[in-house]
Amino acid sequence: MKGGETVTTYKRSNIIKNIVRVQKLHQRLANIHLEYVKSVVNTVVKTKPMYITIEDLNVKGIMKNRHLSKAVAEQCFYTFKKWLVTKCEQHGIELRQVNRFYPSSKLCSCCGKRKKDLQLKDRTFNCECGTILDRDYNASLNLLQAKEYTLLT
Ligand SMILES: [Zn+2]
Repeated sequence: MKGGETVTTYKRSNIIKNIVRVQKLHQRLANIHLEYVKSVVNTVVKTKPMYITIEDLNVKGIMKNRHLSKAVAEQCFYTFKKWLVTKCEQHGIELRQVNRFYPSSKLCSCCGKRKKDLQLKDRTFNCECGTILDRDYNASLNLLQAKEYTLLT
């Protein structure tokens, strides 16, 4: 009797089982990401905006978050944009994209003055003109007012 072979076969089948288990987890995670992306886009589209402006983000540059791998983030942004294009086309919403060099975070959405020393850790945008806004909210107002963009839909 060749006991060794039995053990090897047993081990191998366990390894295969574990690989399948991990693959299933990856698939589940991918589905969760996709459902999340879809729900965010659907929520935005339901507000029936005349247009939506997005930024062509440099994923490599902004990936400081260790909880999300670069590959996952790139996939998420890609899926997000793809789904956004689809939904905007369906609902006749103009989709604008400003390029990645547009300083959406550094401009004051009120007076237009550019802040040179804004750092990633600064969560609030303070301007000499008296404007005090959440950093991302200020950036979104700048995107709203952006004059240079390419049309995606
Ligand atoms: Zn200002």
